[in-house]
Amino acid sequence: MSAQLLQGGPLAQTMRAQVAQTVRELAEQGRPVCLAAVQAGERPESLMYVESQRRYCNEVGIDFRLKQLPDAVTQGAVMRAVQELNEDSGVHGIILQLPLPARIDAQAAQRAIDPRKDAEGIHPVNLGLLVYGVLQCAPCTAFACYHLIKSLDQDLYGMEAVVVGHSQIVGKPMGLLLQHDFCTVTTCHVATRDLAMHTRRADILVVAVGKARLITKEMLKPGAIVVDVGINQAPALSKKGKPLLDTEGKPRMRTVGDVDFEGAKEVAGWITPVPGGVGPLTTTMLLRNVAQAAKNLYLQERREHPELSGPLLPFDRGGET
Ligand code: NAP
Repeated sequence: MSAQLLQGGPLAQTMRAQVAQTVRELAEQGRPVCLAAVQAGERPESLMYVESQRRYCNEVGIDFRLKQLPDAVTQGAVMRAVQELNEDSGVHGIILQLPLPARIDAQAAQRAIDPRKDAEGIHPVNLGLLVYGVLQCAPCTAFACYHLIKSLDQDLYGMEAVVVGHSQIVGKPMGLLLQHDFCTVTTCHVATRDLAMHTRRADILVVAVGKARLITKEMLKPGAIVVDVGINQAPALSKKGKPLLDTEGKPRMRTVGDVDFEGAKEVAGWITPVPGGVGPLTTTMLLRNVAQAAKNLYLQERREHPELSGPLLPFDRGGET
């Protein structure tokens, strides 16, 4: 059997077009949508991420604002920066660029973000809403995996779902999202005694660990939907499994997931490639969360101030961004 590829690109494109439409409709009402990022210090990896967020925002018409703080910033100054953005009615999404300087309590700063403007979907209020079954705004990576699985248009009711990894931003919310569709969810982690025993039962397997080739084909149920979140640098191998060397005789590295893709695709029914699977959708979910937040804030304002209401926007008639 050869698995079908579950690629994030096409779905990301469709979702970005939907986001762009919502953003356009809001802009036509004089309400341009804006994402604000808070960053401290000049960390090259963080700056690269900021630039790619700016580019993605531009593509869908979301304004992008950067609040740059000095490396020597205090906790109080970070909290004030967040508070100012919370109070700014022209800002609809806030993202805190990590890492922050080590002395800053990043979690406290993230908790200070108004949950209605939580672009990353990681505020305790939004994680709590997932427990309530409200899937309005969820952590971007978990939400990306969920949308990829849903794009297969299968009835998930009663499926065995196994999530490997229990981080706050991927594994834990992933389990909640799959339970929403009545999957029977097992979460595996570092203390799981017999990982293969669980993964072999999985109709849906989501792996978010960060260990190259942790999951091999022997650990899969034939026909399973396999979503590989992991991003790792590992030596590139020849068809015979030998490390490939560069011109200087050093091992050539390549980006791989947590699943041994070559083996797994012989057994799985669907599998996400790495790169090209979950990754392209993750940033799209950030844009989607911001557009959803802008829409919710707009609708809330209409409820609170009906006298200001203009004609209904198309999304008032229901449906998601
Ligand atoms: P994380 O916070 O480091 O979490 C990894 C999880 O794996 C932890 O829950 C850990 O358990 C568990 N774990 C460690 N060893 C294990 C083992 N042998 N068996 C089972 N579970 C094990 O990482 P993350 O942020 O969730 O990210 C996971 C991976 O996804 C990373 O490679 C990251 O780069 C990638 N990622 C990709 C995207 C994307 O868009 N594609 C987005 C985010 C992250 P303990 O905590 O108990 O040790």
